[in-house]
Amino acid sequence: MIYETSETKIVPATREWIASAAEIIKSGGLVAFPTETVYGLGANALDGGAVGKIFKAKGRPQDNPLILHVSGIRDAMKYAEVNESAEAMMHAFWPGPLTIVMFSTASADTDCQVPSVTRANLGTVALRAPLHPVAISLIESTGFPIAAPSANRSGRPSPTTAQAVADDLGDAVDLILDGGPTKIGVESTVVDATRGSVAILRPGGVTEEMLGKVVDLFEGDEGDIAHRSPGTRHRHYAPDIPLFLWDGEERDSFVRVLGVRWCYMGLREPPSDLDTSHRKAIFSSVDEYARELFTKLREFESCGGEIIIAELPDGRNIGGAVRNRLMRAAGS
Ligand code: AMP
Ligand code: MG
Repeated sequence: MIYETSETKIVPATREWIASAAEIIKSGGLVAFPTETVYGLGANALDGGAVGKIFKAKGRPQDNPLILHVSGIRDAMKYAEVNESAEAMMHAFWPGPLTIVMFSTASADTDCQVPSVTRANLGTVALRAPLHPVAISLIESTGFPIAAPSANRSGRPSPTTAQAVADDLGDAVDLILDGGPTKIGVESTVVDATRGSVAILRPGGVTEEMLGKVVDLFEGDEGDIAHRSPGTRHRHYAPDIPLFLWDGEERDSFVRVLGVRWCYMGLREPPSDLDTSHRKAIFSSVDEYARELFTKLREFESCGGEIIIAELPDGRNIGGAVRNRLMRAAGS
């Protein structure tokens, strides 16, 4: 049963459709699928031609490497040099929203060699074992590591529903497995485990506090971290209308937009005497903020609003990831 027409195919993530999706991936096609973070656009990571289609469908710069989704530690060892700190993080946080950058394996077995297009010519690979049953089942049925960036057009907010994937990628994807809205809502934490101490390249569901209990964390300046993470060079997560950030205190943000149709999201209400919002989403926790962030950015840009104001939460727990996505979406 295909319940979305046009050229794209959204299907329910049943066992039968997962089997069809695995066949598509084995034959070099593209499948969008749910993970616990956001929807991914997947292809066989070991097939350079298939991976090339991901870059083309997303309009993704070739210098931004892809994350490989694997089934667990044993699988990871085929593709990466797993050192002590990487292994400790795998034991603590896999399967789950943690991507670990490691040196690519020097194995002579060509079946285990990750093509340079997947790695964007780096000597490292980024691996993650996802927690979502649909993602796990897809990896197991193909027998390949699955390269999967978020299933959005490059630069746009990440997709947290199957419909958002269809809206962005249209017929560029062969099949979209619908597993409902994603649970975490922001992408995985990315860490670099190739040096003495572990650096957080992108905050996510596995927080600094959680990582700090398992490994030594790098406390360097942001410039060095940006240098190590190709993805931070590019514009990301941006809605089609301007996004402004609110620190939760000063009223100027709201005074300035009187007379404009503005949409708002945050943990706090906007100042009541200045609240002329066109649409509003108030979240009861920072976890809910993370889960709803990209969905609301997409909803607000298409509801007749002219600008979006979003409250910046503090950096505790997943608030660090929400701040990071908001600041990048606002271009600040
Ligand atoms: P995305 O797939 O767009 O959600 O993002 C993947 C992130 O992982 C990007 O920020 C990449 O730059 C980063 N990444 C992937 N592979 C590597 C690698 N080998 N070294 C450093 N960062 C990587
Ligand atoms: Mg992305």
